[in-house]
Amino acid sequence: MEKVYTSLNEIKEDINNSQVNCAQLVQSYLNRIEENKHLNAFLEVFTEDAKASAKAIDAKIANGTAGKLAGMVVAIKDNICYKGHKVSSSSKILEDFESLFSSTAVERLIAEDAIIIGRTNCDEFAMGSSNENSAYGPVLNAIDNTKVPGGSSGGSAVAVQANLCLASLGSDTGGSVRQPASFCNVIGMKPTYGRVSRYGLVAYASSFDQIGPFTHNIEDMALITEVISGGDEYDTTCSKREVPNLSGNLKLDKKLKLTYFRSYIENEGLDAEVKARFYEIIEQLKAEGHTVEETEFEYLDYLVPTYYVLTTAEASSNLARFDGIHYGYRSPNATDLESTYKLSRTEGFGKEVKRRIMLGTYVLSAGFYDAYYAKGQKVRRLIKDKTDATLSKYDFILTPTSPHTPFDIGQQSNDQIKMYLEDIYTAQAPLAGIPAISLPLGQHSNGLPFGIQVMAKSFGEQDLLAFSKYLMDNN
Ligand code: GLN
Repeated sequence: MEKVYTSLNEIKEDINNSQVNCAQLVQSYLNRIEENKHLNAFLEVFTEDAKASAKAIDAKIANGTAGKLAGMVVAIKDNICYKGHKVSSSSKILEDFESLFSSTAVERLIAEDAIIIGRTNCDEFAMGSSNENSAYGPVLNAIDNTKVPGGSSGGSAVAVQANLCLASLGSDTGGSVRQPASFCNVIGMKPTYGRVSRYGLVAYASSFDQIGPFTHNIEDMALITEVISGGDEYDTTCSKREVPNLSGNLKLDKKLKLTYFRSYIENEGLDAEVKARFYEIIEQLKAEGHTVEETEFEYLDYLVPTYYVLTTAEASSNLARFDGIHYGYRSPNATDLESTYKLSRTEGFGKEVKRRIMLGTYVLSAGFYDAYYAKGQKVRRLIKDKTDATLSKYDFILTPTSPHTPFDIGQQSNDQIKMYLEDIYTAQAPLAGIPAISLPLGQHSNGLPFGIQVMAKSFGEQDLLAFSKYLMDNN
């Protein structure tokens, strides 16, 4: 039986003691990927490239020139570009499209000697909460194959959950890293908007999208976040603010002032056991000397509608580039310019993507712009201001990540409103641009996991990770 690693420190120790090398590590992940093919987590495995990188990194380790991620095998969501490799956003419209350049996040991982093992399945163009919107079939939750893994970064979550890689990258626009992390019992973080470059991330809603990692532990989360963060001349929305030494400062050395919102927890949609566990953690934090106060956030009911008005508007604009001409799928049935546009988009996009493009086009249209898009922008500002005001009084906001544990595959795919309400606790952070993390602190009597979410101030990743480590260590 090959050893299964769940932290880079363990791997580094074994490399130092000559118990394992990168070539063997990659081979063992490749074996596990093959054994777990039924999970459908990977759309493609970069077998030969990963083996070649492993060999090169083993040589660097031998002569002492290896980077800080040497030994870390990473999977990337299929909307993150890696030069010379396919990237499809799990859509038929980009089937067989090859990246012409690498995303900044992937370049930075490689510069520190991480090995990219493959691209993972996701909801088409990152639109979804269950991974059922992929053109390449659903991903199965490794804990129970009849359950969804969450979405949209379901493949990246399952790849870490089932130890098919050590860590992975996903993208989070309204919860797509945190909710699957909650469903798959791993850690998932959405950094502050602008902390990580979006260069080379296929755009869904550009004022929300952020790349975020999945890991088993906070040390790896800190390290990988520190590597991919920081200014980038190719993304003007990416902050030049200095990246702190996240991995070196994980000790929590003060008593905190925390809050949670009453309406979030006393919400009738919240599973009773998730609620009970949430209150248990609150009581424990109080017993440990932290101050926890119940407050209110009066815009709970506006989060999901505002998120869907604004993100579909941005999506309708971003996805206009898939026209059957510039790149990607072109309908063989087209006869002229008009039918090239119409048929390529009709045949190339899936149902949910089309729904969102239409919704977004509608909210931006001349007669409805003020009523929907402009109003949505104003409500977003209110949400942001109120969230920031709360975080000026409290160190962190605590919520469940999702109102329940993973649901059955097929169970909600015909109930769009219900599916959109999956984002009830995760939409706030991207609307406000703040960082948020899901920690695997819940175990339901139905045998399934759930996460607890912590939201922090903009660029508060250092404190957020230190508090997360404290919570993980004490639970
Ligand atoms: N579930 C949300 C949606 O369907 C979030 C998606 C995301 O974060 N990419 O849009």
